[in-house]
Amino acid sequence: MRIPIRLRLMSSYLVVLAVLLAALAVFVPLGLSRDISTQIDQSLRQRTEQLCADYLREGDREFIENANAATSGLLGGQSWAQLLTPGGEVVKTAGDSVSTTPTVSADIAASVLGGDVRVLTTELGPQRQRFRLIARSLGSLGHQQILVLATSLDLHDSVVGQLTSLLVIIGLIAVLVAGISGWWLSRIALLPIIRISRHAERIHVGHLGERLAAPGTADEVGLLSSTLNAMFDRLRDGLDQNQRMVADTSHELRTPLAIMRAELDAALTLPDLPRPAALALERNAAEVDRMSRLVSNLLTQARIDRGELELLRRPMDLREEATTVISRFSELAIAKQVTLHLEGACQPVDADRERIDQVLSNLIDNALKYTEVGVIDVRLRQDDTEIVTTVSDTGPGIPADELVHLFDRFYRFDGAHTKSAGGNGLGLSISREIVRAHGGRIWVDSAPGRGSSFSFALPCRSAHTEI
Ligand code: ADP
Repeated sequence: MRIPIRLRLMSSYLVVLAVLLAALAVFVPLGLSRDISTQIDQSLRQRTEQLCADYLREGDREFIENANAATSGLLGGQSWAQLLTPGGEVVKTAGDSVSTTPTVSADIAASVLGGDVRVLTTELGPQRQRFRLIARSLGSLGHQQILVLATSLDLHDSVVGQLTSLLVIIGLIAVLVAGISGWWLSRIALLPIIRISRHAERIHVGHLGERLAAPGTADEVGLLSSTLNAMFDRLRDGLDQNQRMVADTSHELRTPLAIMRAELDAALTLPDLPRPAALALERNAAEVDRMSRLVSNLLTQARIDRGELELLRRPMDLREEATTVISRFSELAIAKQVTLHLEGACQPVDADRERIDQVLSNLIDNALKYTEVGVIDVRLRQDDTEIVTTVSDTGPGIPADELVHLFDRFYRFDGAHTKSAGGNGLGLSISREIVRAHGGRIWVDSAPGRGSSFSFALPCRSAHTEI
């Protein structure tokens, strides 16, 4: 699963923040609790010492008065003192009502009578109220009695509880605020990168000269755009080299192919040429024609890519040109048992003869390539503004969802009938470029089982002059 970098950044930052705040919400109240407990214990010890000294001086007559003085002002608020017999019975008591019943267990009483001073936290009374309690023996002072002094932990518990809740609420608010501001900040930080990728998306083979805007900063964003720009430079150089190589090679191949075609034509006119030799020469001539069309397409494509498709417009007769192209394919058509048929006429158009020859050749070549047996019709039709040339075949036809891609460069539809025909997906895209360069349009009508009709329209001479 692809998690956006913005979400990853923010969630890791929020997890760290939440852990820190949780640690704060645990350790700060713990520290405060320890400090308050230490103070309570110290004060309980001091007051117990004082009460013991009073007891030694005055006996248990003044116990209640002395105990009240000892317990007043203790940190916990609600405090009391208790005097117990070794058996655990209450002798005297002062302060809170919980002290009217024995408050230490037999174990603690025994340990205290053995000479220990015990400080502990206990829960007493019907409410199970928490008290911090100190118990010591008065035995060392000549009396086998137990003195217990205690103070409530209510104040301690409420201070620590309130602090914990406060820290939890502050922590939650901090995480929320940090989350919202982090989301917003990361958006601002990543915005230049999103802009760069959107711009980079628009740069493709046809626009390799375009460059990303340099942000003018020496940060990561600046580095990214200059690295991408350097990469586009290298890509454009590589593509330029390839295009030059394709153009040069195609150019070099044209002359030998033309010579081969001329020599094959000359050989075919020789008298007494045995039939098998004539057939072989005809097959070779057809292959040479096909190679010439390929070379011509490659050369045109290289020119289109370099923006160098120049048209040599002259008035030309489309019917005459169609007749020439059809005659070039006639032998192939006979071999395939396909009838080539031309109908219609039109006024001359202003067009580049070589290029229009290329478009017609591509369309008729395709029609022948994909039609096994049947008829190929080339029709010319003229209206007020344009002259439409249509090449229709009785081939397999093309599914509707393929039609939109048909004129894309290198697009090939490998249907059941067209798979074995070969090809490179260049013919239709080049034809479209040529027709558009003439100010015309090209389209297809086709359905599986009903054949295909490829048409291109060129502006009439008058209409073209108006443009
Ligand atoms: P290719 O060299 O492959 O023929 P094109 O650009 O001329 O390249 O054609 C693109 C695709 O269009 C072909 O692969 C083929 O599937 C389909 N196509 C073109 N013309 C016809 C046709 N007359 N009948 C059926 N399919 C066709």
